[in-house]
Amino acid sequence: MAEGPPSPQRLLRPEVLALAAYSVQDSSGCIKLDAMENPYPWPGELTEGWLDSLRGVQANRYPDAEAKALKASLRAALQVPEGAALLLGNGSDELIQLLTMAVAKPGCTVLAPEPTFVMYRQVASFLGVRYRAVPLTADFALDGPAMLAALREYLPAVLWIAYPNNPSGNLFSRELLLALLDSAPGLVVMDEAYHPFAGESFLPQVLDHPNLLVMRTLSKAGLAGLRLGLLVGHPRWLEQLEKLRLPYNINVLTQLSAGFALAHLERMSAQAAVIRSERERLCAGLARVPGVRPYPSAANFVLFQVSSPVAAVVFEGLRERGVLIKLMQGPGLTGCLRVTVGTPAENARFLAALHEVCGAAPRLPGADAWFR
Ligand code: PMP
Repeated sequence: MAEGPPSPQRLLRPEVLALAAYSVQDSSGCIKLDAMENPYPWPGELTEGWLDSLRGVQANRYPDAEAKALKASLRAALQVPEGAALLLGNGSDELIQLLTMAVAKPGCTVLAPEPTFVMYRQVASFLGVRYRAVPLTADFALDGPAMLAALREYLPAVLWIAYPNNPSGNLFSRELLLALLDSAPGLVVMDEAYHPFAGESFLPQVLDHPNLLVMRTLSKAGLAGLRLGLLVGHPRWLEQLEKLRLPYNINVLTQLSAGFALAHLERMSAQAAVIRSERERLCAGLARVPGVRPYPSAANFVLFQVSSPVAAVVFEGLRERGVLIKLMQGPGLTGCLRVTVGTPAENARFLAALHEVCGAAPRLPGADAWFR
């Protein structure tokens, strides 16, 4: 006899019940500098060509399950090494989920340095996979000895490395990453979501290491709405992972639109170059705000620490002035906020608002001691 009607508490896994849903902030009416999007839409003269490319679409048919044409465009545009295989995801978020599902044997562990992209932990928690984090140093570098010790102790099936890291924005030491690749007992995934702004990559070497996978996304380059991520690596890994991919995960509009965009890659690269130079102006502007310390960034966002007022007050003050950024929380991020690089006008509005918020607050004696 069932004890009353079915309830979520009775039916669902405890991991699911314990989870806090990934929350997306309401951005209505605000300059949106919270989600690392490219602030520029497609150049006007490309819009017609793009719409033309969609005109013949057969929405009544399923998309090409293997996305062959799109994969060929990605291979050429991203210079995927000959012999490497590709796996496509509905955003790289989906690939994080897929890879974690693939390794989720009882007792399995995945590892990441922290603070880092929250999805590695989130997905592990809801799949019941043990997640271990190794703190970054005070200036967000990898702690080499601690990472090596964690690899030995936890024997992780996957080591997640965001390169550049989110939310700190920096690139970790390549030498140290090569040492971790050599010592890791499992896969090492270089998550190169911010590659368009970093220049550095492990993609050319992806076949040189038997345990290396490289992940990319088109989101930050300007196509966040299309949801397209990719994992690149040796076919012996990817042919296994491919079995977990749902057959039509890349919809027909995304396949066509991303293919069209990749044929005009130089336009996306030009936007990335503008964002990189704006990033430097934004960093310099942040450094001039009293009590604000920006961290160097190789991505399309900047992490900064405020000494006074407290970060939550800065966040609210900015929101009241119509600018939405991200208030950071968790170990290693006391007093930190993250701002996405916007257009020059958006960045100027943000900096003016920040000056007002930080300048308006009474400065506490010794407040600068908050800086690490
Ligand atoms: N990796 C990192 C490091 C990220 O910061 C993000 C997005 N914030 C993603 C992956 C996910 O990107 P998407 O799902 O849009 O491809």
